[in-house]
Amino acid sequence: MMNKTTKTRKMPTFNTRQRGWNFLQTPGPTNIPNRVLTAMNQPAVEFLGPEFMDFARRLFDDLKPLFGTTGDIVIYAANGHGSWEAALTNTLDIGDKVLIPETGRFALSWGDFAGKLGVEYEVVENDWRKAVNPNAIEDKLRADTDHEIKAILLVHTDTGTGITCDVAGVRAAIDAAGHPALLMCDTIASLLTCPYEMDSWGVDVTIGAGQKGFMLPPGLGFNAVSPKARQLAKTCQRPGNYWDWSERLESEEFYLSFCGTAPEHMMFGLRAAIDMINEEGVENVFKRHFRLSRAVHAAVDKWAEGGALQNNAVNPDDRSNSVTTVLLDEVHDPIDLRDLCRERFNLALGNGMGKIMNESFRIGHMGDLNEAMIFGTLGAVEAGLKGLQIPHGEGGVNAAIDSLLESDD
Ligand SMILES: *Cc1c(COP(=O)(O)O)cnc(C)c1O
Repeated sequence: MMNKTTKTRKMPTFNTRQRGWNFLQTPGPTNIPNRVLTAMNQPAVEFLGPEFMDFARRLFDDLKPLFGTTGDIVIYAANGHGSWEAALTNTLDIGDKVLIPETGRFALSWGDFAGKLGVEYEVVENDWRKAVNPNAIEDKLRADTDHEIKAILLVHTDTGTGITCDVAGVRAAIDAAGHPALLMCDTIASLLTCPYEMDSWGVDVTIGAGQKGFMLPPGLGFNAVSPKARQLAKTCQRPGNYWDWSERLESEEFYLSFCGTAPEHMMFGLRAAIDMINEEGVENVFKRHFRLSRAVHAAVDKWAEGGALQNNAVNPDDRSNSVTTVLLDEVHDPIDLRDLCRERFNLALGNGMGKIMNESFRIGHMGDLNEAMIFGTLGAVEAGLKGLQIPHGEGGVNAAIDSLLESDD
């Protein structure tokens, strides 16, 4: 087998004079709608003035239904990693133990974050080509008779594997084991691409970020917090400042809601994004993501007939609405494909991650996206496969067209 990592590569060059759109099909950041950009293109405002405070309060209120909660939401000027850290530092003391179902690379990275904060973590091992099995989590919890496990850190859609797991099923497993651990859920890649119901699914902390389904520039992070998590946070001894929920949620002083100056322009953008999502109708947003993702999966299944690549997720029902991870065989290098797609066809694809880094690439399909953009993306991937002579079934784009025409929504 050729060693793909040590091969000499030519540095990719950006052809900035190419005209037309650059197709940004990475699983974050995603396409930013003009309406969001325009909303951000305005002067700064007095952030302790009554108008902005009013605006911010309405924004918090309108965010809640999108998380499926009536509880509290904290907005951070941060990316997803910051929001991970916030969830951990508010609830877990040094020496506490957590359980991490191995959904893929993001689960392991979140675990690593917990580890660096002095939290002990145990990974519930899982095959990266299938959704995690709630029964395996239930077994671990049943075995923890002293209730040492304080939380389960679950990634809803692991962006490395392109697989979405059954959050309600994991909650049912926790309940079946009669275990008091918190359920924390990373929805960074799933929120606003598929249904998510924090309260009715019994999630205690939801972690989100702006640059995926929310269609924002990178820079906003979210924690949605259940009353149980708030309560636990009060007993947590770990000192905290910036991430601390209590100052942000309990203080009378508006200044403390953001631990300093509010990220005003990001919030102007968020307002526009929420309005767009509500105008389309959140259910329609989910249906659009489902429809477009199934078209991508159909194209990959068609290409797979050539024997060199396949959908990473074995079970079609596990495949996510927001990102498709494509596994490539040992002889072909996904970086060559990404380079060619970028340089020749103006298409940005996602890299492989974790243990499948050298044998996978990813097609992001979340946020501000429509059918024609999917055809363009798949057409460019197909051209890349052809250009590199990677064996593939002919007609991936046609399979995507058929999938879209067959879909009822
Ligand atoms: C993108 C992503 C993250 C990391 O978010 P950043 O904003 O890059 O820090 C974490 N978890 C999941 C599931 C993601 O998709």
